[in-house]
Amino acid sequence: MLPFLHRMKKIIITIDGWSSCGKSTLAKQLAKSLGYVYIDSGAMYRAITLYFLRNHIDWTDVKEVNGALNNILLHFEFNPKSQQSEIFLNDENVEYVIRDLVVAEKVSDVAAIKEVREFAVAQQQKMGEQKGIVMDGRDIGTTVFPNAELKIFMTADSAIRVERRFKELYEKNPNITIEEVKANLELRDYIDSHREISPLRKADDAFVLDNTNLTMSEQFEIVFLRVAKVLL
Ligand code: C5P
Repeated sequence: MLPFLHRMKKIIITIDGWSSCGKSTLAKQLAKSLGYVYIDSGAMYRAITLYFLRNHIDWTDVKEVNGALNNILLHFEFNPKSQQSEIFLNDENVEYVIRDLVVAEKVSDVAAIKEVREFAVAQQQKMGEQKGIVMDGRDIGTTVFPNAELKIFMTADSAIRVERRFKELYEKNPNITIEEVKANLELRDYIDSHREISPLRKADDAFVLDNTNLTMSEQFEIVFLRVAKVLL
């Protein structure tokens, strides 16, 4: 954490955008340099999806969904080894298993369900009560924290996004193909931006960051200037 920051007011920073734009990389960097908590809201939807898949929940049936949500406890814990906060589903660390394509293929359908969104959003808003938080997702600046002090909407060329996600997934599963990854990203982006409740869209007061041609440090510099403007 930068030394002078502990004396400053704490704010909420939201990062929304398309799949695989590097939202979590930026969010983690920001949280680390500000001494803030980082929350990956997508991990919550992925963990709920994992629970639904494992327990064969029919998510077209509201009763089943509500029953299942009553049995789901989510929390984040900072892991000093990985230097990041990791998600727990009913006391099991599921941070890595939720990244699997099996979960990615269903998560947007599950995240479109009203009851699921209400369940997740209520917890996200609670996590932001003390401020000092960076949260990334799809509806954070529009629905979860509409009054956040700094809102970022991230985008990048779709071919670059596919390539980035492919590299990430290929390391864990060399059988994966780039076509599968491309299809999944396109489908998720379509469902996320066309669903009825809290669709992915730029908040009117969000600042657009297109990182197609930016290095990670260039991107960080641009955003950090925005943070400084809000804080100083
Ligand atoms: O961020 P990530 O790609 O892990 O998110 C997985 C999925 O969770 C998204 O494709 C979207 O369907 C859902 N999501 C959402 N609202 C959020 C964060 C994620 O609907 N705030």
